[in-house]
Amino acid sequence: MKRILVTGGSGFLGSHLCAKLLNAGNEVVCVDNLFTGRKSNIYHLLGNPRFEFLRHDITWPLYVEVDEIYNLASPASPIHYQFDPVQTTKTSVLGAINMLGLAKRLKIKILQASTSEVYGDPLVHPQTEEYKGNVNPIGPRACYDEGKRCAETLFFDYHRQHKVDIRIMRIFNTYGPNMHPDDGRVVSNFIIQALKGDPITIYGAGSQTRSFCYVDDLLEGMVRLMNNEVGFVGPVNIGNPNEFTILELAELVLELTNSSSSLIFKPLPQDDPLQRQPDISLAKEKLNWQPTIQLKEGLAKTIAYFEKELSTQFIEKH
Ligand code: NAD
Ligand code: UDP
Ligand code: UDP
Repeated sequence: MKRILVTGGSGFLGSHLCAKLLNAGNEVVCVDNLFTGRKSNIYHLLGNPRFEFLRHDITWPLYVEVDEIYNLASPASPIHYQFDPVQTTKTSVLGAINMLGLAKRLKIKILQASTSEVYGDPLVHPQTEEYKGNVNPIGPRACYDEGKRCAETLFFDYHRQHKVDIRIMRIFNTYGPNMHPDDGRVVSNFIIQALKGDPITIYGAGSQTRSFCYVDDLLEGMVRLMNNEVGFVGPVNIGNPNEFTILELAELVLELTNSSSSLIFKPLPQDDPLQRQPDISLAKEKLNWQPTIQLKEGLAKTIAYFEKELSTQFIEKH
């Protein structure tokens, strides 16, 4: 049994990770400032004597005694990371420094939740880990993209300079239960709009693409990366390579919810990537990992979750 720190542990991915690590018999220390996360995501874990929640902002130092760190703290939805862009960069950069300082002091392994956004609006398709990206350093997405790029730099420099044992995964669009109803990302927006009978908001013409991974698949890749015995550090793409246009996603959500919502077209946000698809050859080779849950099946599970959320009206911010 290990004591494992999960930052961002009350968010969408973090809450599933805490549950998975507890189920495997570990102790979990969940650290979160509840900016986009919710206590309701971890209520069911609070009674477990191996689970501990600390309300804390990782831009500040943290002194705890743990055996391993998963660093997931950061808003991930464009509307939330652009709400306070300076704080977003601080979370990525100062947060990485603090968590790497902790890992260095304790001589423990630390995994960084990086992102496909390090590739920006990619000119290479699908994206391999060698691609260095096309990021606008002064645009509205830069606080997130450049923050995450700098965090990767810090991880590699702590690795080279201080011999910290690191892991870096580049996460592609992931969806599933525990997403906040106000998250603002495309899958939760479309499902909630369809269930309420509200118009589906398509940004731009809907011809831009994304490749959507179900949360359980993603977490399996994350834990394999952390636990791999060969010392493979990454960066490694983890995502589902099946690519869809946003219009195709809208049509699928309408079909699966039996909704008659109309489509409305809104302006495409600045710097919104036109296409995105992970090349997952490296994950297959090094981690023997590939996704198993396809979009229809994953959407059905996510729709069931939001139906329950909306029926109980339990839409809590903190
Ligand atoms: P989320 O917004 O649901 O969760 C992020 C969590 O981090 C929230 O609980 C939030 O309160 C917490 N947080 C934010 N700033 C913090 C700070 N300064 N100190 C402590 N806690 C803080 O998002 P998510 O989808 O679960 O994303 C988790 C991680 O995975 C993020 O680092 C994100 O960048 C990365 N990621 C996610 C996706 C995806 O598709 N879900 C894609 C790429 C990368
Ligand atoms: N730090 C932390 N917890 C620890 C050890 C370090 O939060 O257990 C933070 C501390 O704020 C420090 C940062 O991590 O500034 C980087 O640590 P490092 O040892 O690399 O830098 P230094 O302390 O030498 O500035
Ligand atoms: N999008 C959309 N309608 C929405 C929310 C998002 O058309 O209500 C589009 C958005 O412009 C982008 C894609 O869906 O092209 C994915 O957006 P999301 O915010 O989920 O993630 P990211 O852009 O970070 O991949």
